[in-house]
Amino acid sequence: MILPIWNSVYQQRQNEELQALIDKIEKNTQEDISSVVIFDLDGTLFDNRPRTLHILTEIASRYEEKVPQLANVIDRHRDLSLFEYSVANTLANLNVDDPEEVEFIKEKWQHRFFSDEYQKYDIPIPGACKYVNKIHKAGATVIYLTGRDAPRMLVGAIESLRLFGFPIGILGTMMIVKEVFEEQDEVFKRNVTQYLKRLGKVEGIFENEPANSNLLQEEFPESQSFFVLTQHREDAPPLNDGISVLKDFRITRK
Ligand SMILES: [Mg+2]
Repeated sequence: MILPIWNSVYQQRQNEELQALIDKIEKNTQEDISSVVIFDLDGTLFDNRPRTLHILTEIASRYEEKVPQLANVIDRHRDLSLFEYSVANTLANLNVDDPEEVEFIKEKWQHRFFSDEYQKYDIPIPGACKYVNKIHKAGATVIYLTGRDAPRMLVGAIESLRLFGFPIGILGTMMIVKEVFEEQDEVFKRNVTQYLKRLGKVEGIFENEPANSNLLQEEFPESQSFFVLTQHREDAPPLNDGISVLKDFRITRK
């Protein structure tokens, strides 16, 4: 999909659209209408690239003899722009291309990336924590809807949200994760939508995967769907019309 080059016009629109959602929720709350706002985690509220940087650094240090190419470059490459959605692409960007080494790294990376222990190395997208708190304070139920799975990742997901000051575990918040890892993200999110419709009026949806943005916009046509410009799958479909594009969650003042 074609991404816009960010400029002051986009920033102004971002400011207005983010603020408009807060205003809408405040109005609903005053009228005793229950608002729901859905936030995806990976690539939406959090930048996962530092998690991968940490993991690759650890693999390089622990298995130095098995991963000589990685061990040779990792200390010199702290530039996160080299880190992509796919770890295979990231390794290619780092010039790690020995097939056996790449396979070994991918296996060790996967084991760590999809676990409780390493989520705390994610960093929130700028303004995300402040904005989610504002949405919560305005009276919406904040739903963290993530493809992370309960058996391996629930505890770490909650830990990282709490660590950075997101509202979690308290009144007006809910965490929904996958029951099993194998469930496809889109299928999982579609199944959840029926439940969310009963919970209240879904006013806002935040996603970084075009497929999920489109799907949730179709499920909740009355809500405002936001797409966060971070990383997403390479084979992503084009974004539907009417979806707001965000660089981050900052509302800038002139
Ligand atoms: Mg995501």
